[in-house]
Amino acid sequence: MIDFSFTDEQTLLRQNTRDFLERELRPISAEIDRDAKFPAEFIRKMGEMGYMGVPIPEEYGGAGLGKVGYCILLEELGRVDASVSTILGAHCSLGSTPLLYFGTEEQKMRYLVPAAKGKALHSFNLSEPGAGSDAASLQTTAVRDGNDYIINGTKLWATNGKEADVYLVFAATDRSLGAFGGITAFIVERKFDGLKLGTEEEKMGIRGSSTMQLFYDNVRVPRENVLGEVGKGFLIAMTTLDVGRISLAAGSLGASSRAIELAVEHAKRRVQFGKPIAEQQAIQFKLADMGIRTRMLKFFLYNVATRAEKMGTNPAGWSKADREELTRDAAILKTFASESASFCVDESLQIHGGTGFIKSSEIERMYRDARISEIYEGTNEIQRMVIGRDIVKRGWE
Ligand SMILES: Cc1cc2nc3c(=O)[nH]c(=O)nc-3n(C[C@H](O)[C@H](O)[C@H](O)COP(=O)(O)OP(=O)(O)OC[C@H]3O[C@@H](n4cnc5c(N)ncnc54)[C@H](O)[C@@H]3O)c2cc1C
Repeated sequence: MIDFSFTDEQTLLRQNTRDFLERELRPISAEIDRDAKFPAEFIRKMGEMGYMGVPIPEEYGGAGLGKVGYCILLEELGRVDASVSTILGAHCSLGSTPLLYFGTEEQKMRYLVPAAKGKALHSFNLSEPGAGSDAASLQTTAVRDGNDYIINGTKLWATNGKEADVYLVFAATDRSLGAFGGITAFIVERKFDGLKLGTEEEKMGIRGSSTMQLFYDNVRVPRENVLGEVGKGFLIAMTTLDVGRISLAAGSLGASSRAIELAVEHAKRRVQFGKPIAEQQAIQFKLADMGIRTRMLKFFLYNVATRAEKMGTNPAGWSKADREELTRDAAILKTFASESASFCVDESLQIHGGTGFIKSSEIERMYRDARISEIYEGTNEIQRMVIGRDIVKRGWE
């Protein structure tokens, strides 16, 4: 599966999205970052235009543009504002796509349709104070009580936690069964009694997205809000994160491209020693190293996205080989993409010289925003564990 080209529809989506973001988002991006302000009005507009459900099929309220279309959107967002790509990723990749993969028809109608139409914002609650990389060690519990479950526990770092209408929360239903068997996913509405907001984190980057502590204090959840089967929660979380890493990489690709663009603009403009610094080979070598990574990333990203698209939206029907390949390639992609973006924004900032260190410069914000992609949705150390283990187990092609 090496061949790839964009369809006319995808090219048009990119162009329309770029125009929209340049017109509506770029002018407010610096302010969103400076004030750490959730861009509610802009998110509402994205919803109206169908951007909150780009990969979701039309029958469930989405735009039906698949994973490649979704990556195009995330790539374009990555060029402009990483806060918004984080909000969208948490809502769509993590918070609502699992409903498409694992939900009942009723759950899809009740929760996925409003999410895809941008009428409800979603949040994904896996991490806890004592359970980060080792997510399976989560302490939140869900105890059966008649036709309901009662959830108790503390979740940490929930993106969209402050603004969400719906939370996908993972809790232990039977510790004796371990991760695969003992953890269950629940759909929790904001209005359910006992769900309380804790502290909002102040962050170095992606400051327009909220990152919240959440308390589940005897939250009563009806049994029909179990997502998938009881005990399948960890599998749901891991599958969701595998697929989510693809679009996360798309955001990193957009950031890398923008970093190059800004570096070139500055290097052509800035004259030292009687000529633009762009004419210095040392600067051109930096641009070359950025270009090499970004070009490779683009091809691999859309290759993995196309393969994931072909696998369809019913994980129960995926072959073992396809699933293992997806897990490994999404881990390779996420690691390479996030490190390429960090490299590109760092080199771009260096090309900007002192100007890049000043708060008013776009690359200063991008430098702070890029760092998180090496950490969330599974740190790059954990991705290397996944990749290394797979190579030992299945060998290399
Ligand atoms: C801004 C932000 C948004 C987030 N959004 C969400 C969200 O929406 N939902 C959600 O559930 N979570 C979210 N997270 C949590 C995020 O996924 C975790 O931070 C991440 O998984 C790492 O966990 P940790 O921070 O506890 O680090 P730790 O697990 O404590 O790791 C610390 C360091 O040790 C390394 N390490 C750990 N174990 C090993 C090992 N076995 N071998 C080698 N190295 C290891 C790690 O790679 C890392 O470098 C968010 C976090 C942030 C900061």
